[in-house]
Amino acid sequence: MNVLLVRDVRVVDALGEWRGDVAIQDGVFAALGRGFSWPGALVLEGEGRTLLPAFVDLHAHFRDPGFPEKEDLLTGSWAAAHGGFTAVSVMANTLPPCDSPEVARYVREKAQALGLVEVYPVGAVTQGLSGQKLADLRALAPLVWAFSDDGKGVERTDLMLEAMRLAAALGKRVLVHPEFSGVERALGEELMVARDLYLARLTGARLHLQHLSSPGSVELVRKAKAEGVPATAEVTPHHLCLAQEVYGDYPVNPPLPREPARRALVEALKTGVFDAVATDHAPHTPENKAQGAPGISGIETAFPLLYTRLVREGVITLAELSRWLSLGPATIMGLRKGLVRVGYDGDCVLVEEDENFLLDETFFFSKGKNTPLLGMRLFGRIWATIHRGEVIYLEGLLRGRDYDDHRQVVRKG
Ligand SMILES: [Zn+2]
Repeated sequence: MNVLLVRDVRVVDALGEWRGDVAIQDGVFAALGRGFSWPGALVLEGEGRTLLPAFVDLHAHFRDPGFPEKEDLLTGSWAAAHGGFTAVSVMANTLPPCDSPEVARYVREKAQALGLVEVYPVGAVTQGLSGQKLADLRALAPLVWAFSDDGKGVERTDLMLEAMRLAAALGKRVLVHPEFSGVERALGEELMVARDLYLARLTGARLHLQHLSSPGSVELVRKAKAEGVPATAEVTPHHLCLAQEVYGDYPVNPPLPREPARRALVEALKTGVFDAVATDHAPHTPENKAQGAPGISGIETAFPLLYTRLVREGVITLAELSRWLSLGPATIMGLRKGLVRVGYDGDCVLVEEDENFLLDETFFFSKGKNTPLLGMRLFGRIWATIHRGEVIYLEGLLRGRDYDDHRQVVRKG
């Protein structure tokens, strides 16, 4: 019997807040209450800390296979654990891309062998992400949770229509990076959002819109949802928190919003247009970045940034943030995660809300240190990350890198 007990802790999830003890047994939340004593349990003291369901990321790039200089499944998993994430959906733009069962199997098996966080590959929509010919979606389906050509929009409507019909038949979601090339960036986003909402309505495919950045596309999604279109949408921490006026044109795709657009995205979050905040973790080397490669290494800074900028400033509550970082994405992926409730996976984070830290390059476990946030002071430090009752990250130490048996580490203190 394997029991982890977190005692006397403030617990916050999307459904509310309470104070007490949380017991995880054999990987799931087994008991919630007060004054527990559990012989043989490993105890974490919760006083002064807040327990949240661990975060789920719908959108990350772990660059494996193919770009080990930027990231790999090991360092990506370290970064996820450090950032409080226990389940991560990784995009198909690797080398080779995830357009075949072999690559999907490689990602799943390598991540599983690491035993840190759950990694769920996304299969490509088109062969080689070329936008020219559909990948073998039927062959990929048993190994991936969704399909996406993220990095590029699928511009050909005939291919997108066929992909949505197939995905609907296979019971898989289609994730869309909405961008038509050749027109102004925001217009390109809105046009693809409009087209794909229309196709979702037509085919019944479950559509998920990635990293929306334009108030125009937000309005399209709002209307479509009200009409019952089976669509969901995500927004990134940087589009919610970092305006172009302050952070300049730090290269990221879609580009950072101007302040009025940023405010519109926050408003859309508060009014239910977005189902999840997803990091779009995109690690690059300093050389790539110097050449203008778009992207932010964001999986480790997502929570502290959102907590500092939105929760501490009173824009949203911590329970709301938990909905968008945990329950919302877990629901989209069909995982039994995202709430601190008996029977849910015993995945949680312990956060020190009032601890602030200076963000510098030494903070990152990711190989990618590309972020416009260096030098910033952030609150909401992750103290521990627990995956199915196992402590995978604790105060700077990672399971598998710094210790194998967390019981010894926890008892040390
Ligand atoms: Zn994208």
